[in-house]
Amino acid sequence: MPVPVPPPLSRRPSRPHQPMRPAWLCRSCAAPWPCAPARLDLAFAYRGNSVTLALYLTASMQQAMDDTYRLGGDPDFAALHARFLGWLSLARRDPPRDRPPRDPPGARPR
Ligand SMILES: [Zn+2]
Repeated sequence: MPVPVPPPLSRRPSRPHQPMRPAWLCRSCAAPWPCAPARLDLAFAYRGNSVTLALYLTASMQQAMDDTYRLGGDPDFAALHARFLGWLSLARRDPPRDRPPRDPPGARPR
């Protein structure tokens, strides 16, 4: 009897890494949301719109706090902030629109 071979990763149906409320665990991988794949998806979906991404994550964090209170828990604000917003890096901020693009490393000065 042949052993079934899993399809290549690129052909596997992908489940979106969405939050499952009220636990705020990922529906796909069960990690605390936003899990690493969700962060990648969000960074891609909101590329060039980091302020909108920060607002979305702030609203999600607020919903997670509300859900924790609703369940009778006591949310850890610092942990929630680190989880929802701590991964947003200053390096990922959108470049100012009035600044000219940087020269690549090794380029001659203008
Ligand atoms: Zn996930």
